Amino acid sequence: MFKKSVICVVSLALAAVFTLNTGQAQAAERQFVSIAAGWVTGAYFPMAGAISRIAFNNLKDDNIKVTAESSGASVANANLIASGNTDFAILQNDVASYAYNGKEGMFDTPVKNLLGCASLYPEHIQIIVRKDSGIESVADLKGKRVAVGPIGSGTTVNAEQILSAWDISFDDFQAEQLQARQAADYIKDGRLDAAFFTVAVGAAAIKDIATVVDIDVLDIVGPKAQQLLDEYPFYTQQPVPAGSYPGLEEDSTTIAVMAIMAARKELDSDLVYKIMKAMYTNLDRIKEAHAKFQDISVENALDGMTLPLHPGAEKYLKEVAVVKE
Ligand code: GLU
Repeated sequence: MFKKSVICVVSLALAAVFTLNTGQAQAAERQFVSIAAGWVTGAYFPMAGAISRIAFNNLKDDNIKVTAESSGASVANANLIASGNTDFAILQNDVASYAYNGKEGMFDTPVKNLLGCASLYPEHIQIIVRKDSGIESVADLKGKRVAVGPIGSGTTVNAEQILSAWDISFDDFQAEQLQARQAADYIKDGRLDAAFFTVAVGAAAIKDIATVVDIDVLDIVGPKAQQLLDEYPFYTQQPVPAGSYPGLEEDSTTIAVMAIMAARKELDSDLVYKIMKAMYTNLDRIKEAHAKFQDISVENALDGMTLPLHPGAEKYLKEVAVVKE
């Protein structure tokens, strides 16, 4: 009996090895490439989806298949690169720098195989509050029910930094780490008063809330905001104009970071080059995917880039004279 099960386990193991090898043989012909994106209701996911469609239509001869994968977002994506579980990632430029340089408590081992491809578009730290919550400033968040970003998000990193400038910690309110869609649902049905989202203005998660309840986007301004700008070089002050969401009547001023695309260092340079070239020669396709992608251009590919470039990306950016020889 015992012998039989050992034989069974061994043959199962052999079968697994055999399947794995066959899988690898197929992968050699066809290159499967993954992009770690973020929230399905965010903007990384539509971006990665657009890149995947561009690759499908333009890299047929190279047999490259790109798939977009949803995730908690920036911190999770840097970790997926570190463990070799994804090839490309979209993430915030601040988190990318923390990962590459090994910021204590966040990335205890520096993620040195995280290399830059291109800077894409700004992401605003948007503190969305229900209008009927009585929250009018960051200070008013104390004692409220607040979503502080999904686990593995850059949003949670930003929420902590912003709040600490106001001497508020997650212990000063009922902090929830929820998926972006869930945070939106909870605000709509009144289970939450506010939620942090570091995401492109106009993202589906926030639009979804604004179509159901009246919202405000909190200002992040004044001396405490200045303190944040001085302390964190990636932060810039940026407006969220009235009309950005259904029923949003007033302009607000908040802080933004940049979304960047990164690649795993071990990834073949030719492959990275081909994907970069396909992306930038088909920008129209990308611009269709989200209103905020209108601003993406190859000329801005190095704005706010916090990582050394992947050689494949560098080759492309030299070819278009964005990186000078
Ligand atoms: N910037 C977000 C984060 O890392 C993700 C936004 C998105 O998925 O578009 O928290």
